Amino acid sequence: MDPTNPLYRYHRQTLLAGIGEDGQRRLGVSHAVVVGMGALGCPGADLLARAGVGRLTLVDRDLVETTNLQRQSLYSEDDARGGRPKAEAARRRLASVNSSISIEAVIADLEPRTAEAVVLDGPLGRPDVLIDGTDNYGTRFLINDLSVKHAIPLVYGGAIATRGVSMTIRPPETACLRCVFDAPKDGAGETCDTVGVLGPVAAMIGAYLASEAMKILLGREDLTSGSLLSFDLWTMERTRLDVRDARDPDCVCCGRRVFEHLDASRSARTVSMCGQGSMQIRPPEGAGALDLEALARGLQNHGRFLIEQSCVRGSLDAERSEDGGCVRLTVFADGRVIVGGVTDPQRARGVYARYVGG
Ligand SMILES: [Zn+2]
Repeated sequence: MDPTNPLYRYHRQTLLAGIGEDGQRRLGVSHAVVVGMGALGCPGADLLARAGVGRLTLVDRDLVETTNLQRQSLYSEDDARGGRPKAEAARRRLASVNSSISIEAVIADLEPRTAEAVVLDGPLGRPDVLIDGTDNYGTRFLINDLSVKHAIPLVYGGAIATRGVSMTIRPPETACLRCVFDAPKDGAGETCDTVGVLGPVAAMIGAYLASEAMKILLGREDLTSGSLLSFDLWTMERTRLDVRDARDPDCVCCGRRVFEHLDASRSARTVSMCGQGSMQIRPPEGAGALDLEALARGLQNHGRFLIEQSCVRGSLDAERSEDGGCVRLTVFADGRVIVGGVTDPQRARGVYARYVGG
């Protein structure tokens, strides 16, 4: 291939019989939405950006923290020191990896009232595939609802401790997540905060997510797994549960087409952030955008606050945090607030009411 050919950078990929130059062009006009830019979304999105998927939307609500660096391969110590939003830090990093693709960062919590607008009507258009790199069942089933309702394929992945799991959902042909998993109570069971997670497990699931997504984008759905794959990298056990016939006609989601997670008129306003000793508070229904400049000026009386990366951040001198410092506040333009150093929902709501708005 001529090095001046725009596809030259993908030469080793176009050599593959299943891709070729036609497949590469097809990837170049495709759109993948990655929800959750943590341990799974980082390697998944990295591989898709390098593979030349032309449009990538990265959705994440969190900020980069030091304890993310062990496995979240797109972030640096500088991102953690700066407490940068993951979606934006990932966008910057991936733009430096492949400047020929379009990448959109969405710094938001995917929640029922906004999920369809965020995922379906973003600036990069309707997605061809959804990638679930989230860490909680509430959001996971919300993405499953979106996938089934709008017939957009979904690649699901999960990683905990030394175990990983992955499944590809192609509505209406295959089983959906609700056919296979019960709806657990959120927060029930193990989390990465309580039992940890092995970096290589996350990297492997990230690779599954990317390769399954590529097959879908290339129109080779016939090659997708058809199985619920799970493995333990510590014991090297693997299982492969065939789910091709697991579609449940009574499934609340894909059978009865009741989209409980998408239709939830009210989701909890206060939720604990996975493993970070902090609480997230969403603004009340119908609240408009915040004037961040005015808010930052007001907060100057309570501590040192800066506007940075489209959010206001700083710490409150008068509020002791549970980790012995001061309570940290990060306020986004959509009114969402992360109260750092507090794990008691009531106290977090009190801090929110006092400093951001009642
Ligand atoms: Zn189902």
